Amino acid sequence: MIKKEFSTNKKYELIDITDAVKKAAKGKRGVVSVFTPHSTAAILITENEPNLKKDWVNFLQSQVEERSFLHDRIDNNAGSHILSGLIGQEKTFPVDGDILTGTWQQIFLVELDGPRTVRKVNIKIIDNRG
Ligand code: ZN
Repeated sequence: MIKKEFSTNKKYELIDITDAVKKAAKGKRGVVSVFTPHSTAAILITENEPNLKKDWVNFLQSQVEERSFLHDRIDNNAGSHILSGLIGQEKTFPVDGDILTGTWQQIFLVELDGPRTVRKVNIKIIDNRG
């Protein structure tokens, strides 16, 4: 398993981690699991286009801001947990020498409660060559 760490600079941020996943998958065959061991971050597939990334941030923020959540009495980040759960903390991709994603499918670590010094991503190849 390959363990990567990323630092984030904003409350909400999309960080393209496609290259790290492609590097891990190079020459392999099977599937690759991309997992972030955090409950206020997520793994998302979308197009790496600057305005679309802003649209994602604006959309995600609009879903949780100005709401009242019970968990906010503890550490004021219920919205971050909810968005993380909805987007998902893991995605799996087919691999045949490279990840078999479409042209407009890039892989992102989504920061939902930043900034954070360390956000971990675990990349695990499950090889089926036997
Ligand atoms: Zn919390």
